[in-house]
Parts: sequence; C-alpha cells; structure tokens
Amino acid sequence: MRFHILTLFPEMVLQGLATSILGRACEKGILSFDAVNIRDFTQDKHGRVDDYPYGGGAGMLMQAQPIYDAWRSVAHGCTSGRPLRVIYLTPQGKVFDQKMAREMAQEEELVFVCGHYEGVDERVLEEIVTDRVSIGDYVLTGGELAAMVMIDAISRMVPGVLNNAQSGETESFHENLLEYPQYTRPEVWRGRAVPSVLLGGDHAKVDAWRLERSVERTRRWRPDLYERYDLPGRALAYLLRDRLLHMDMIENIRRGQAEVLAVREDGVIIRDVTTGIYMITAETKDAGERLLSFVGTQAEVFACHQDFVMESVAARFQKSYVNECLQAVYTRKQKFSEETPFLIRPLTEEDLELVAAHYELYTKEKLCAVLRKGAVFGAFLRQSVDECMKDREENGADKIRSDDGGKIDSLICAGFIGTHEEGGIGLLYVRKACRRQGAAEALEKFLINRTLEKGWTPYVQIFPENEASLRLQEKLGFRFSRKKIYWIS
Ligand code: SAM
Repeated sequence: MRFHILTLFPEMVLQGLATSILGRACEKGILSFDAVNIRDFTQDKHGRVDDYPYGGGAGMLMQAQPIYDAWRSVAHGCTSGRPLRVIYLTPQGKVFDQKMAREMAQEEELVFVCGHYEGVDERVLEEIVTDRVSIGDYVLTGGELAAMVMIDAISRMVPGVLNNAQSGETESFHENLLEYPQYTRPEVWRGRAVPSVLLGGDHAKVDAWRLERSVERTRRWRPDLYERYDLPGRALAYLLRDRLLHMDMIENIRRGQAEVLAVREDGVIIRDVTTGIYMITAETKDAGERLLSFVGTQAEVFACHQDFVMESVAARFQKSYVNECLQAVYTRKQKFSEETPFLIRPLTEEDLELVAAHYELYTKEKLCAVLRKGAVFGAFLRQSVDECMKDREENGADKIRSDDGGKIDSLICAGFIGTHEEGGIGLLYVRKACRRQGAAEALEKFLINRTLEKGWTPYVQIFPENEASLRLQEKLGFRFSRKKIYWIS
C-alpha cells in the first residue's frame, strides 16, 4: 500500500514512519511512504506558501496553489486507475477509529494533506479532498502527527505488516470490546501472580476467561463502547424477559432482519432493515425518549410496545395515526396436520387485484413486494359450473380467480394469508361466500407449519375488535400478551 503525504515537513513524517514494524514493512515492499514537500510547488519566488486570511483574524493560512500542484504531481503518477482518496487532517473532520482504519486499509493508495498554521484555503480542499478526518477533539499545530497516527493504524490492517494475522483481530475495538489483560514472565512479580487459568493449558477456559475480562473492563472503562457490544445478543436477553409482548422484535432479530440500534438496562430499539419500521420497548418514558434519539429524521412507522412510548413518538415525529394490536405467539413446536379440502398455493403478482381488493393496510406497491417474495398463500376450492356462475352473480367476476374462465369445474380462491415483511403472520382474508368452511384455519395452519419449518416462531398481531381472529388464534393454541402494541405512523 502506498501513502502520499503532502506536508511542509517531510522529514518529520518520514523519520516517524521509518522505524520498527512500519519500517520493516517498507523494506519488504508491503508499504511505501512518499512525503511530498508542498513548498517545492510554490510559484512564489521567496518560497512562501502562506498568506493572511481574508476578512482578518489571527494567524496565517496555507495557500491553495502549492497544495493543488503537489496533489496534481501525485495524481499524475498514480497507477491504480482508481480515483484517488484524499484525506485532509482537520479537527473538524469525522473522528478516526478502528473501523475507519480497517476500511481505508482496503485502498491501494491514500493521499494525506497536512495543514499547518491556522489551516488551509477552503477552495483547494473543496477541489481535491474526499475525506475530512480528525484524530480527536483537540487542536494540534499541524496535520503531520495526525497523518502519522492514521498511517500507523491503517498499516497494521494491511496483510503482511503484522507477523501474526490474528493479532489485529483479537485486540481492542474488535467487536467493540477492549482487549483482556495480558501477562508475561515472571509468573509472580512483586507478590502478584499471573491468573492460574492462563497457566493451565486449557484453551477453551483461557478463551472464556479472556472474553469475560474483556466484557468486564469494557463495561467499566468504556461504557460508550460497551453500548455497541453484541447488540443482538444483549437485546435478545432483554426482550426474552417478556417474550409474548416482544416476539415481533425477537423474531426480527433472530431472522437476521434487525439493526439493533441501542440496548439499555431499561429498553431496546431496533429497526427492521426490510421495511424501515422502528420497534421500541422501554420501561419508562425517559428511557423511551433516550431510545428515540437513535431514530433518523426520515422515520415513518413505529411499533411501540408501551403507550407512553407511542405518545413520545407522536410528539417527537408529528405522527398521529395509531393502531392498537394484541400480540399472540404460537409457542408450541409441533406442526398441524395439513389435511384440508383446500388446495393451498402461493399467490403471485397476477393476483394483486384480488388481494388489494380485500387488504387495505398495504399499498399496492407493498402488496406486490410480498407477493413477489411468495409470502402470500391462497386457499382454492373446486367449484362446479353452476356454483361458479351463481358465485359470479353474487360476488362479481373480478373477485373470482378461476383457471379456465368458468367453462368447466374451476378453482376459486376462497381466501388468503401472508407473512408481513417485518415477520408476523397476517393479511388473513376469507371471501364472504366461502366463510364457515374452515378456510381461515386451513390457511393459518399451513402458514404456521411453513414458519416452523424455517425454525421461526409464528406470531400474529390482531386488532382487539377482530373477534373472529381472536377466537381462531385461541383455537390454534396461540398465547396472548396481556399488553398491547401501538403502531403509529
Ligand atoms: N483553525 C483550524 C480549526 O480551528 O479548525 C485549526 C488549524 S490547526 C492549528 C492546524 C492544522 O493542524 C490543521 O489544518 C490540521 O491539518 C491539523 N490538525 C489540528 N488538529 C487536528 C486534529 N485534531 N486532527 C487532525 N488534524 C488536526
């Protein structure tokens, strides 16, 4: 990997980078450092590279032209064919971290622009810079030390620079944990013994001990980092305390659809990545408010697991359309028998009009998405010509999908069911003419079986006034949460 550093003090940078691990990587040809002296590019006959700021103010500013020409000399010699990434070191930039180091180590070449004095003429930055990066919230006299810090951290992530490929992975910040404490000889020093587990030779025990210590010290010393550690695992541990109320969130995480935004001792917030829906549970209004600070301004739909969280969402995001739901969970593992007079098969986009006519909670676009995924199933009944004609007279031809236009006995769609994009079973509808024949039950049993086959837990959310559905869930053995979920959009 090649680093170009545009600076007024090339010797400072080169000396700093030429020693120890980075120096050896340079000798092996894995890294190379090219310090470009900005002063070499000035057109001023006295070699000046700075001037007073327009509008007055303390200090001098580096001029645009020498920096631009220094950059051009690098850009011309660039061989990778990829657009050059140019980093301006500035206290105003995004704060550098291990994640950024890992990401930047993927590049073949990087250019660093080191400012000095009061900074740099903004116009050249606008012209050439792709990233503005700070190494922390303090002000240095120049960008050189900052560039060296970044180059050091990035270089360690370049394959071959460290002897042991693993050591970049097990140390601090990997998976948002600090590294565990380490010991070397002697076994006892000033009366302090090395923890005995490290001497026993049991690698599984050593790993477990190290993980425990890492978690412990991260929680104690870097609570900000700990908040981001193993978010899914910690969210699940919290949510499982009331799994009937939280099964929608639990399943969203287990099915790998959730971005866990924050886990607190008194609440969790996740975002379903497929739909952008935010799901929140909190023990107090204050906890809910804190969790809502993780929500982007574009948020549209929220599933709140407490009324006070719903009220906070309403006030904060100016939302007012609320649906209250009861959540029921199929906690058993056994599947149902699928003996049924109905032929059940997935509906397709061709069935959009049929489904749209009976399901108002989704836009056609959203219905299309679930139909395309094969997430909606229809129950079909064989109907004689006479029945079919009668049915058409009563229900209108457009509501009936038949395979052969009604010339011979045809299959008519009695109803449908589906899995919502965020995970729950729903979209259940049975045509009036086909009710009381067990279509809803057959459809739901069918979808419960398919859900179980995927290793998932089936759950439904029902409007409390939908008594028919409540009865059906009870009959199928679902268990109800005593608390409600509030959808607000
Ligand atoms: N006037 C500038 C401001 O307030 O943003 C600060 C200029 S500073 C004295 C001079 C140069 O040091 C900057 O142009 C920048 O290249 C570098 N620098 C200072 N602090 C830095 C930091 N925290 N991270 C990265 N670079 C820094």
